Amino acid sequence: MNALTEKLRLRLDEDQLTNCMRCGFCLPACPTFAETGLEAESPRGRIALMKAVTDGIMEPDQAFEDQMNHCLGCRACEPACPAGVQYGQLIEQARDAIEDHKEHKTWVKVTRKAAFKTVFPHQERMKWVGRGLQFYQKSGLRTVAHASGAMKLFPKHMRDMEKVLPDASGRGVVEQIGERHAAKGEKIATVALFRGCIMDVLFTQTNIHTVDLLTAAGFEVVIPREQNCCGALHAHSGEAEGARDLARRNIKTFKAASVDYIVSNAGGCGAILTEYDHLLHEDPQWRDDAVWFADRVIDISDLLIRAGRSLDFSQNEAQGEAEPVRITYQDSCHLRNVMRSADAPRKLMRQVQGAEFIEMKNADRCCGSAGIYNITQPVMAGQILDHKMEHVEATGASYLLTSNPGCLLQMKHGIEEQGMSGQMKAVHIVDFLHERMKK
Ligand code: SF4
Ligand code: SF4
Repeated sequence: MNALTEKLRLRLDEDQLTNCMRCGFCLPACPTFAETGLEAESPRGRIALMKAVTDGIMEPDQAFEDQMNHCLGCRACEPACPAGVQYGQLIEQARDAIEDHKEHKTWVKVTRKAAFKTVFPHQERMKWVGRGLQFYQKSGLRTVAHASGAMKLFPKHMRDMEKVLPDASGRGVVEQIGERHAAKGEKIATVALFRGCIMDVLFTQTNIHTVDLLTAAGFEVVIPREQNCCGALHAHSGEAEGARDLARRNIKTFKAASVDYIVSNAGGCGAILTEYDHLLHEDPQWRDDAVWFADRVIDISDLLIRAGRSLDFSQNEAQGEAEPVRITYQDSCHLRNVMRSADAPRKLMRQVQGAEFIEMKNADRCCGSAGIYNITQPVMAGQILDHKMEHVEATGASYLLTSNPGCLLQMKHGIEEQGMSGQMKAVHIVDFLHERMKK
């Protein structure tokens, strides 16, 4: 038997594979099926391929591997499935087996090791990445790189992302504002902020604004210094053991903080944090603590709506803006499909005085960012983004809000690419709410 077949048989959850009754209800929700119309590019098709391999009907060849990689991992197929098939687990198991079996070229091995083992798991090293980026952006090096044509050495999709990178910071939220923040007024609960690794380097200000919103809504906020990357990129890229290691380290840190909630402001991170219980369900030493952790994870919008004191979002009126601004929202797939949070951000946006919320067509459909999908699968990601931007433009909004750093960068890139930057801004929902909150 092919060694990869053996690995897939061992890792793929047979119950989940057989739970799929081939009804096809998930097909209309799947972006890659919508783009191609191909059964193999659908959730049902991918599950059938996995099943065919584990049943010994087909070999896991390159075409099989390609189909597993073409999946965005957006998990829009899960809420659509009447049988409750946990597709996200299946695709992660398939990718883990493929990755374990794969013989990468030396440069790919070196890059993966640098990203997954040397940099992402260590927040201090992420800060050095932040400092390096900050130097590149502020020292004039960026201008030289653009003017000299050196950027042309990089593929187009990397150049596109570089253009929309926000100002990086070598000092994260803890270094800038400290670890503990008292609630304003009577305290409702104590929460811990999950600051994220990329969030804390590229969106430090969003983390600071998150603390402001939470304290204003009545929460005491702690930001445990020892926390690290959530492990989402590891889990989605076939590095399950790396993800488990990060999960154990985060659980240890947050348990010591002894809080009522663990708050995330990035859908991609929040989703995997809620799944630490699944990630460690076979580890008897960590299983119970993983359940403790996962039960406390919540997105900031949900926490503000469910348990916070209501906030006054009338700052725009105080600024004397004559016309209401029009805002729209692109869902973060993982926030919507895994954390099942779609209403709370919309409720908050509707509370902003002087802002008219317009629902965008297919706002629940992936924008093509999907972790590092826009780098690994640029053609499909570009196609999905083009269709997304047609719907964005039709809203006539001047603010496009999102709840995840990857989606935010992808939306910024879409706005640039379509020449819409004069009329529209992509902003994290936390930053928009903070700007509009009466201080
Ligand atoms: S995760 Fe997204 S892209 Fe992948 S099969 Fe499901 S709906 Fe399609
Ligand atoms: S909706 Fe669920 S059961 Fe139906 S084909 Fe899709 S994954 Fe299978």
